[in-house]
Amino acid sequence: MKIKIDQDRCYMSGECYYNHPELFQRGEDGFPVVRTNDLEGDLKKHADEAMEVCPAAAILLED
Ligand code: SF4
Repeated sequence: MKIKIDQDRCYMSGECYYNHPELFQRGEDGFPVVRTNDLEGDLKKHADEAMEVCPAAAILLED
């Protein structure tokens, strides 16, 4: 499973990296950068949460 950020949709609100710094960090350009795609255990749940709360629906989970 892989986390992708749709930069055309993301407007850099920051919820993902503030709420889930274990998965995302703020990149130099302001867009979130995915820190890991090793979504074992709670990290998969956290990725699902991040996807659900993203106000721009810019976080995608792909197989
Ligand atoms: S929560 Fe969504 S809109 Fe906000 S920075 Fe993260 S990906 Fe972008």
